[in-house]
Amino acid sequence: MPSAPWSTVQLAEFLEVFELLEMLDGVNMTRIAVDRVAAALDAEVVALLIDETVVRCLGFPADAVPVKLLRNAAEVRFSILQVPGIGEVHSVSAAVSTAGCTMVVLRAGNPFDKEEETLVRSMARALGLAMTATDRLTESRMLAERLAERQYLSDRLAQIQKSISHRAPLQEVMDSITQGAAELLSADVVGLRVVGLGEGADAIASLAGYPGEGLAHFRSIPLDQGFSGRAFTEGVLVSTMDFPADAAALGSAPEAFIEAVMAAPVHHDGHIVGVINVASREVGRIFTPPEEEILLRLADHASLAVTDAAAIHALRDSLEGERFKASHDALTALPNRTTVLEMIEYELDHTARGVPLSVLYIDVDRFKLLNDMYGHSFGDRVLIEVASRLRSAVREEDLVGRLAGDEFVVVAPGISAEDAEALAQRVTYQMTQPLVIDGRGTQLSVSVGVAESAAGLSSEELLGNADVAMYRAKTSGRDCVVCYDVQMRDEMFKRADLEQEISLGLKAGEFVPFFQPSMNLETGKVHSLEALVRWNHPTRGLLAPDAFLELAEETGLIVEIDKSVLDESCRQLAGWTRLNPDLTISVNLSVRHFAHPEIVDFVAETLAKYRLHGSRLWLEITESMVMANDAMTLEILRSLRSLGVRFMVDDFGTGYSSLVYLKRYPIGALKIDREFVDGLGSDLEDEAIVTAIIRLADALGHEVIAEGVETAAQQEWLVQSGCIYAQGFLFSKAVSADALEVLLSTAVTVENGFL
Ligand code: C2E
Ligand code: MG
Ligand code: MG
Repeated sequence: MPSAPWSTVQLAEFLEVFELLEMLDGVNMTRIAVDRVAAALDAEVVALLIDETVVRCLGFPADAVPVKLLRNAAEVRFSILQVPGIGEVHSVSAAVSTAGCTMVVLRAGNPFDKEEETLVRSMARALGLAMTATDRLTESRMLAERLAERQYLSDRLAQIQKSISHRAPLQEVMDSITQGAAELLSADVVGLRVVGLGEGADAIASLAGYPGEGLAHFRSIPLDQGFSGRAFTEGVLVSTMDFPADAAALGSAPEAFIEAVMAAPVHHDGHIVGVINVASREVGRIFTPPEEEILLRLADHASLAVTDAAAIHALRDSLEGERFKASHDALTALPNRTTVLEMIEYELDHTARGVPLSVLYIDVDRFKLLNDMYGHSFGDRVLIEVASRLRSAVREEDLVGRLAGDEFVVVAPGISAEDAEALAQRVTYQMTQPLVIDGRGTQLSVSVGVAESAAGLSSEELLGNADVAMYRAKTSGRDCVVCYDVQMRDEMFKRADLEQEISLGLKAGEFVPFFQPSMNLETGKVHSLEALVRWNHPTRGLLAPDAFLELAEETGLIVEIDKSVLDESCRQLAGWTRLNPDLTISVNLSVRHFAHPEIVDFVAETLAKYRLHGSRLWLEITESMVMANDAMTLEILRSLRSLGVRFMVDDFGTGYSSLVYLKRYPIGALKIDREFVDGLGSDLEDEAIVTAIIRLADALGHEVIAEGVETAAQQEWLVQSGCIYAQGFLFSKAVSADALEVLLSTAVTVENGFL
């Protein structure tokens, strides 16, 4: 195979250099090119000139390039030159590129032949092409870099936008903005602060490029101060390359070593709410217009994030408000029945086998009475107080809820009924602490039922059991704690049945008054009649009040019973007027009925209906009814009194201890309770009490009637002691209207006895 001509080999070797083009920049490439040319042609000097300037030269020291000589050589293709230090040289030149670059090759000794001349031209051409390619490459490299930068910027912004749209916490978004700014702007410190967005967003601050404790300090700087403060107060981007001087001019102590700073405002709802600032410690650093642009974009993103977070905040607030309203009681802010049941359900589901769960069902005693007597706002205050006392009485892990009205609940995880009973005792103790509302002192008590979870019991059932136990606490005298047991449920059902029966009985007119006379022991004649209700039960026969009164009182049905007794009593009395025109009748009033403001109208209407004067009617009230000692009670008593109606205090001495009401209220008579009458003639204490009551009544000008007189000895003692009115089995039991009419018409007296 014929060997390749010399020049071809040289050119091929020369071209190899450019295969490395990708890795070479323009400078390196021309250096290697002139080396190769010199080697290929055995030349002393190789130079590259652009226009009049030598851009590269091999063969002379850098400070001794004979520019003029080379320029001359470049202008002609061949020449022979005298070069200082070398002597006579042959020169050949060739255009490297169209851009005015020329290669000059000088060689001492042999002149260049044709082949060599062609080689020089080829090499110059190749170099020219390579240089153009490198220029392009550099250009495109720069372009690529710029593109990459832009891509990075937009990636970074997109990332921030994404975290905003994904509803990342505001702090997280802010952190990504400061981090992004630090990277995009090659800043040493980036700070971002937002204020005045209400709770939560208020304290948002993010700091990049600063040690941890810097954040607290950063937060403490007023936003409108210092150099960055101008962005806040003026609402524009501010920038300085001489931060120490600018900060000092503004009277603030500049941060050490900071050289350049720029800051941009953050907006929300048309107002400036924050500032983002970037700082550089690099000496001579200037933030360029494109960098200002980037900061403005980042500030826009911060504004967007803040606006979004504020909107979400407001939405969440209102959603939470709605959710809270739906799950909590408006008055006490305690969880409501639904929530309580859910909590019990949750506890039942999540409590390990063998770990107990107890529920306390709490009902405020006589709450309805307080409510009726002092008004609803007073009642509300009582309930709020009950809620707060409950919270303070229970353990941290216990849940307090309000079920309805005056019914509260405590869900106590992890404790048995026995321990829950102790907890309940603490609750009852708390409740009985003195309470003053609107200057009115009162004392509360609660009845508490306790029930413990058992296998297979639902939340409803567990709560139901506690309710049943609470019911028992009520019926066994209130102000106490009762633990649930199975029999209680049956009783509950019985009571529910009874309530139903009472309602039906009322409609069927089964409740009727019987009448028991009280006697005037001096004249031996009937003094007055007491109406005592009886229930003509369709299957159980005649029932006394102890069979139904308590339940009727609890359920409020007593009001209807009292009304029908009052009506029927007045009707009968009107009928008996012809037998005894002065005969009076006393009717018992329940607390409930008494607290009803409509009672005045009802009594007035009833008296009018039967054409009776009010003085023919006594109303029996108990000490507890007047204990309230308030304006409403007085008003009711006075209104009724103005109708001529008089009042007797029933069971005197067994109730409230204050006697103030005797003075304040229009009381006409005291009824000495049977408890004291029992011991007359035999018990010195009873005798002393009764003597005192008789004297007291006498002193106040009240009549006094002894109740439950059963023996002649008691009667004798009363006569001796100056008590002239008496009522009791000794004279007569309560009898039906018909039986009483017979007695009245036969004018039976104490002496010949009734029945
Ligand atoms: P109270 O008003 O103190 O009535 C007296 C109670 O003592 C009556 O019982 C009466 O039958 C009974 N009693 C009378 N004399 C004697 C006696 O010598 N010995 C004994 N052991 N008992 C005697 P009752 O009728 O069972 O009524 C009980 C309570 O029920 C009443 O006590 C009263 O507080 C209430 N009550 C009765 N009727 C009504 C009514 O129509 N409305 C309201 N709200 N309460 C009523
Ligand atoms: Mg009575
Ligand atoms: Mg009585």
